[in-house]
Amino acid sequence: MRSIRKPTRASRLVALLTVPTALLLGALPTLASPAENGQVEPSRKSSTEQNGVALMRIVAADKGEVDRLADLGVDLVEYNKPLEDGIEVHAVLSPEETTALRAMGFDVQGKISDQDDYRANVAERKAAIAAVDAAALDNDQLTVLRAEWFTSLDGNRFLSFEVKSDAGADSATVITASWDTGMDTPPASGGTATMSRFTDAGQYMYHRFTSPLALTTAEPNRVTFTSSKGGTVKASVTQWLGKPKEAPDEHYVSDFVDHYMDPTEITERIVGLAAEFPKITQIIDLPNLTNGYRRKAQAQFGTAAASTIYVTTKAWGHEGGNDTSVSLINPGAANQPLTVLVAGKTVIVSLATNGTGALTSTAAQVVAALNADAASSALLTASTYRGNAGAGLVATAGATRLSDNLQAPPSISREPFQMKALRIGRAKDGSKPGVYLYCQQHAREWVTPITCLETAERLLRNYEQDTKTRNLVNGLDIFILPVVNPDGAHYSMYDFNSQRKNMTNHCPDATGDPANRNSWGVDLNRNQNVGSFYDGYNGASSSCTSGTYAGPSEQSEPEAKNEDWLINTYPNIKFSMNTHSYGGYFMWAPGAYKTAGREVLPRTDFGTENFFWNASSKILNAVQSHRGTAIWPGRTGPTTDVLYSAAGNSADAHWYNKGIIAWNFEVGADKYNPATNQWEAVGFQPDFSEGHEEAMEFSSGQIAILEVAKAYAADKSKPTAELVVKSKGAGTTDFTFATSEAANVYYTLDGTEPTTSSLKLGFAGYREGPERITITAKTTVRWLAVDIAGNLGTVQEKVLNVPKS
Ligand SMILES: [Zn+2]
Repeated sequence: MRSIRKPTRASRLVALLTVPTALLLGALPTLASPAENGQVEPSRKSSTEQNGVALMRIVAADKGEVDRLADLGVDLVEYNKPLEDGIEVHAVLSPEETTALRAMGFDVQGKISDQDDYRANVAERKAAIAAVDAAALDNDQLTVLRAEWFTSLDGNRFLSFEVKSDAGADSATVITASWDTGMDTPPASGGTATMSRFTDAGQYMYHRFTSPLALTTAEPNRVTFTSSKGGTVKASVTQWLGKPKEAPDEHYVSDFVDHYMDPTEITERIVGLAAEFPKITQIIDLPNLTNGYRRKAQAQFGTAAASTIYVTTKAWGHEGGNDTSVSLINPGAANQPLTVLVAGKTVIVSLATNGTGALTSTAAQVVAALNADAASSALLTASTYRGNAGAGLVATAGATRLSDNLQAPPSISREPFQMKALRIGRAKDGSKPGVYLYCQQHAREWVTPITCLETAERLLRNYEQDTKTRNLVNGLDIFILPVVNPDGAHYSMYDFNSQRKNMTNHCPDATGDPANRNSWGVDLNRNQNVGSFYDGYNGASSSCTSGTYAGPSEQSEPEAKNEDWLINTYPNIKFSMNTHSYGGYFMWAPGAYKTAGREVLPRTDFGTENFFWNASSKILNAVQSHRGTAIWPGRTGPTTDVLYSAAGNSADAHWYNKGIIAWNFEVGADKYNPATNQWEAVGFQPDFSEGHEEAMEFSSGQIAILEVAKAYAADKSKPTAELVVKSKGAGTTDFTFATSEAANVYYTLDGTEPTTSSLKLGFAGYREGPERITITAKTTVRWLAVDIAGNLGTVQEKVLNVPKS
């Protein structure tokens, strides 16, 4: 049998027409089989040149003529089309064969295709195969982390996707997302968009949209991610949030804040609340007084750095420093020495002169004279400007009153501040799970203290008539610290609204001049003792003027000591929430990494991470219930995954030191402006109309945290875990586990009894599902689930087989 060319797809539908080589006639010598007549291989079969063989169209007069062609051994193909005047058949012919057939009277017409077509096809095929092979070599593996849509303020709908490529470290890796418009709709009918490559500390994290994409069509059902490296993956698109918390009963009262409040006012308010609700409250005076809203008095003289000096009183401004004055005078005579005269709090520096009466005292000399004089140095310290050698000549200055530059009215105390926490609960004896809600670590985040205050007031004023509130207060031990940073907060409200840190000035002379006064202070969310700057972690600074100054040592600050004291004194605290602004984030540990290699603090385990995510949906649905604000999925998760590294932050200290389930809020989610198609940030101090709404929605979130804590305390049910086989291949079986609730799974592969010391199910990767476990031989798997409340499941067992390799 000879092989038959199959030039068209349609032709294959017809039975093959072949002819025995024995029937070939001498009229077509080139068709003879070499096996029959000993000739050389016919030229048409050359595998290289092929000598013009082509697929030719022949019109036969009738069926008899077709039969005759067949009898001649012509290479007819599976095509037979009746025409008006005959039958069209196709044959594969060399030019010689064509000539011979025409000579025999057959109507051989033109070519259908020839070697040029063939060569083009071969070339095209080769290129296609090469492309496929190249792609096969490089094809990246895409892992979908999250694919969600959600509604936010005003009912606008958005898409949020996250996908990780194993080639993502290459900045040339481009991933596009295409989504449909619902079940059974075309794959890209919703749209297509290029994603952003998200990197942090020089490391690739995943691809995402930098902000959620406005959705203009119906909600998608499926999304396809395609990488420029050849990888592709599909995923279902699920709804994020959108399950509003059930509306409170109509008697539920809320909305207790109607203006931004300073720490003095807030503290008076919680003291008043405690007096009003004595049975279910207690005021806790935290043991470390703050530095206080106070400064030393200062003045600076001079314009050029080399000739400038500044002085700082020993006394606080309000304790006499502000009564001090300094003048730099010309003695009015030649050849006078540099002298310092002190009378009471008046300091007069008489500058030296030369023989012509010109002033000759340098800044360094004046500083030395002031500091050497006993009476002067008892009042103040003099310094050259920012470490300058001070070789410039000092100019005269009239009597200048020193000032602490503080603008708050006298009603704001300049004394060290007594921080007060409000404890709410019926038991208050350590027998109930503790929840610690704290706000305004950062002074300029004005919405946060009123959020904590609103929560306290809702709990107290609804206690009598609202069953749910009563259950929370009776079942929990709640600690609310509305202002962690009272000194800085007073400074933010009265002096410098962008103040972030506390008011403790650890700066040396070189940075202690009055123009630096808005840069002093310690970042209280960088002063804790886990994953700190001093441990080598990223996101804090040793510079006393940096916005993220870690302080001279871990827990150097009274405010940080107080936080630590609270969680140590009340070991029943199991949950905490550190409320900041802005941006709309919901975050948890780990919150810091070392820059080199982006070495992250230990990730929470599988069960805890799932607990965090499960709690997220409850807490963030509560936030959304107030006015529709959705915290983005991309702003939910471990701090290091969604924001940055914050060395020495409080939530990490709570989790790693005490095992406290510790969250961070950033109130003030970005708002979408449909007119510009932009997300707009709200800032630290929005108009109160906006700040009020933020306080209301995040107070609802804080209440939901209490509900999560209450549910945790009430959880007595045994978790279960199911073994799920994911894939079987030659010689291997992959499996994982699915749990009935957030729980850890401990397992053995040797038939022994699993305990909490056994192998522990982990994550496949951050923001991914559970890992897959691979076995290569028949294995008895035994496992045990343990939930976050410590409930143990029953040991289960399954024998897994492995297909033969
Ligand atoms: Zn903050």
